[in-house]
This record gives sequence, structure tokens and C-alpha cells, in this order.
Amino acid sequence: MDRVLHWAKQTYDEYNQARSIPNSGVRFEEHLRFCIDPDDSASVLQFVDEWQRVDGANCGVACADAYLVTLPVIDVPVFMTRLKKQVADSLADFVIREIASPTELFPEFDLVVNCTGVGAHHFADDSDVFPIRSQVLRVSRPAGLHRSTRIYRKDDDFTLVLPRTNDVILGGTTQEGDWDRRVRQTDSTAILQRCGEVVPEIREAEILGAFEYSPMSEPTSAE
Ligand SMILES: Cc1cc2nc3c(=O)[nH]c(=O)nc-3n(C[C@H](O)[C@H](O)[C@H](O)COP(=O)(O)OP(=O)(O)OC[C@H]3O[C@@H](n4cnc5c(N)ncnc54)[C@H](O)[C@@H]3O)c2cc1C
Repeated sequence: MDRVLHWAKQTYDEYNQARSIPNSGVRFEEHLRFCIDPDDSASVLQFVDEWQRVDGANCGVACADAYLVTLPVIDVPVFMTRLKKQVADSLADFVIREIASPTELFPEFDLVVNCTGVGAHHFADDSDVFPIRSQVLRVSRPAGLHRSTRIYRKDDDFTLVLPRTNDVILGGTTQEGDWDRRVRQTDSTAILQRCGEVVPEIREAEILGAFEYSPMSEPTSAE
């Protein structure tokens, strides 16, 4: 946990600096977190600038803990474009290619940094790396909705309403060991139901799409 806190603080400080850069894709918004069961997420509150405890019962949610905290929200396409340009400006080349195994890279390169995410299960033959399938929905953003809301419940799917610049992400599922990347209607219905209970305005929102969240560019078949 100490290592995670250290990473979290570094990340927070980095985004705190990035927010003042024009068009950085980083802005700060309120986030409301209801912990139905106790969890250790509150430990990050020790280094954020703005937060306050909330009485969940006043919001109609019986919970062990609840708080409102101001956190960075990243507009990923904007932020990544800027990062990519920084790397390109340092004369790096970008090559997109699927690599079957690390041995393919030697002796061509002296140093390889393996950041294949869940792909390391196959790429590095590492069975300790496994997927946690997360399906999300994308809906239109109701006027005036900026604050994100998260419901934490032990051993349960996470419920998340995350407004972005032009839409809202509704989450989600946490299905351990599930490689299936096809959208499931039963999951979409359950996500909409759970999110609508905590943020009623999204019930009227237009559904823009459902996807099994993964940063990997090419869909892979179910295993
Ligand atoms: C629903 C959901 C919501 C999330 N929301 C947030 C959030 O709000 N904030 C947050 O910080 N994190 C969030 N995360 C977590 C975040 O997405 C991951 O932690 C992050 O993407 C991991 O980054 P990574 O670079 O380690 O791996 P990845 O982003 O998975 O990148 C790995 C890359 O390696 C490539 N690759 C893999 N194998 C090969 C191969 N053999 N050859 C070539 N290329 C290969 C893949 O195509 C991919 O591009 C969320 C995750 C989920 C599922």
C-alpha cells in the first residue's frame, strides 16, 4: 500500500502541474465516493488539496464512509497527443507491430521495457497476470453534470458515473479471469440500472455505445 500511495502522490502532483498548461487535457473536478463497505481508498486524502467528509445518509446512501474530493480528470485523447508529441520531439520513432515473444527483440535492441499490460500473460508467459473484464457504457452528458460518483461495495461490480467533456462513462463490471471482449446486453442493463439509482439524471441520457473497456487497439477473440 505504501508503494501505491507513493505512486498516487507522484501522479497527483504531476497532474497538478499539468492543469496550468493550456489545452493539456487535464482539469480538476469534484468526485463523490460512497464506500458501502469500509475500504482503504481514503488514505489518498492525506495528500489532496481539497476534500470533505459527507454524510451518505443525507444523500440516500447508507454507507460506512463517504467523501467529496477534487481530483484530476484526464481527457485522454488530448493528453496522449501532447505526450506523444513530446516523445516525437525528442527524435523517437514510433513503430506499431505485434511481437510474439521478447526473444524477437534481441539482439536488435539493447534494452526492452515490457509494458504490455494484460498482454504480458501471453507475451511474457506470466500466469500471474490476468484480466478483470470491465464493460462500460457511454451516454450523452446531461447539462450541468460535472461531478463523478463512485459506489464501492466489497466483492461487487463497481458503480461509476464519470462525466467527460462530451459524454459520460457508466461503469461497470469486474469479472476476474474473463477474456471475453464482446459487449453483453445483460451487463449493459445492470450498469444502467445501478448508475441511474445514484445519479437519476442519467436515466434520460442517450446511449451512445457500450464497450468492453480495453486500451488495446485491436479486438481479440474470446478465450
Ligand atoms: C473500465 C476501466 C476504467 C479505468 N479507468 C481508469 C481511470 O479512470 N484512471 C486510471 O488511471 N486508470 C483507469 N483504468 C486502468 C487503466 O486503463 C490501466 O491501468 C492502464 O491502461 C494500464 O496501462 P498499461 O500501459 O500498463 O497497459 P495497457 O494500457 O494495457 O497497454 C499495453 C499495450 O501493449 C500492447 N501490447 C500487448 N501485447 C503486445 C504484443 N505482444 N505486441 C505488441 N503490443 C502489445 C497493447 O496493444 C497495449 O497498447 C481503467 C481500467 C478499466 C478496465
